[in-house]
Amino acid sequence: MSASSGQSRRVAYFYDAEIGNFHYGQGHPMKPHRVRMTHNLVVNYGLYRMMEVFRPKPVNAALMTRFHSDDYINFLRIITPDNMHEYLRQLQRFNVGEDCPVFDGLFEFCQLYTSGSIGGAVRLNQQWSDVVINWAGGLHHAKKSEASGFCYVNDCVLGILELLKRHQRVLYIDIDIHHGDGVEEAFYTTNRVMTVSFHKFGEYFPGTGDAHDVGYDEGKNYAINFPLHDGMDDASFKSIFEPIIGKIMEVFAPGAVVLQCGADSLSGDRLGCFNLSLKGHADCVKYVMTFGVPMLVLGGGGYTLRNVPRVWTYETSVLLGTEVKDVLPYNDYFEYYGPDYRLHMPVSNMENLNSTEYLEHIKTQLFGVLKDVEAVPGVQIKSQADDMDTSGDGGAAPAAAPVAAALAAAQPDDVSKAEENDNNPDAKGTSDNREHPAEFFPTPGPDAPPPAP
Ligand SMILES: [Zn+2]
Repeated sequence: MSASSGQSRRVAYFYDAEIGNFHYGQGHPMKPHRVRMTHNLVVNYGLYRMMEVFRPKPVNAALMTRFHSDDYINFLRIITPDNMHEYLRQLQRFNVGEDCPVFDGLFEFCQLYTSGSIGGAVRLNQQWSDVVINWAGGLHHAKKSEASGFCYVNDCVLGILELLKRHQRVLYIDIDIHHGDGVEEAFYTTNRVMTVSFHKFGEYFPGTGDAHDVGYDEGKNYAINFPLHDGMDDASFKSIFEPIIGKIMEVFAPGAVVLQCGADSLSGDRLGCFNLSLKGHADCVKYVMTFGVPMLVLGGGGYTLRNVPRVWTYETSVLLGTEVKDVLPYNDYFEYYGPDYRLHMPVSNMENLNSTEYLEHIKTQLFGVLKDVEAVPGVQIKSQADDMDTSGDGGAAPAAAPVAAALAAAQPDDVSKAEENDNNPDAKGTSDNREHPAEFFPTPGPDAPPPAP
């Protein structure tokens, strides 16, 4: 029933060498440098030779407003460390300043990580790739008009919106230790996107993600939350992830999957409190792969600098269906990986506060929710006007439906018409292209897809 993993899967990888030059500020745990370290390891393992490497073409601000409000995006464009004292009111309103600081090149940073996710979704939609990787993305906390948890623009939401142009149903899976709240909220009232998050819950950021939060209105039963305690280990994680995801694949039958691979669920994370090994984390990726559904694979959290490149490099190899040696190849950041200089790292002996009984209890509860999920292939796509009617921000629905208008615009029928007329500005604006080849890597091989229309 599930496809075999590995062979002949076309993998694309988005990376912009600029990403590592952005700084959140001294002492801030979020370090874009980790993406550059990951890339360097990917290169030195030779993995880049097995996939197509692209530098994303920057998306414009207008595209970000498919989800975000115009005034919020405009603010991100103009705010700088030098002028921020003139915008105190907006800084507060948009929650920019502390966890989400203003730094040099902030908007450009948002553009880079978002472009990889949207460009990746375009590639999947065009069926040029089966798997697209964007380790710079996965910033799942950003809200429609608010930065949150080190995230400013929600590339996960924007990537999903792009995928909805081609696919009736998209599944979002989040294995970051934090609840994927921004993505859940965006799609809380639709049955076209199911969001699934496995996260630490209870006196922990962002505070949402209770198992009872299951979606609203048409989205009821299409948000799945597995709240967890400290010390989750590989075996425990596997015991819940595979049955839940397996069930979802069966009942929801998504056309595409977005997998957020936040690395802060690894053992020894600076902000996390789980105890996963690289293998335990990557087993989630491997399991999702077995279903053979197009996948957009994103990064996310991850705050122990030496471990993030380890897991994302390992997961790159898993997605490529290849093996990499445990002994690390020499690379530009070799000194970070001492004293052992190995890929895999030991887990700790911390106590796992998730009892088997607890995990089984929540699992049963979530199976109960999934029992009511319909595989909705025949659902009549509503007209734009219908969707607009239910999208009032001031309505009774919990802070939901911020993307209702965008969802209405993302009907598969609409896009095919637009493409027929060669009139799809989004595809032009977001697809990776030949004018932006990855800087120091070979251009795609002879079997490369044609350039974007
Ligand atoms: Zn996180």
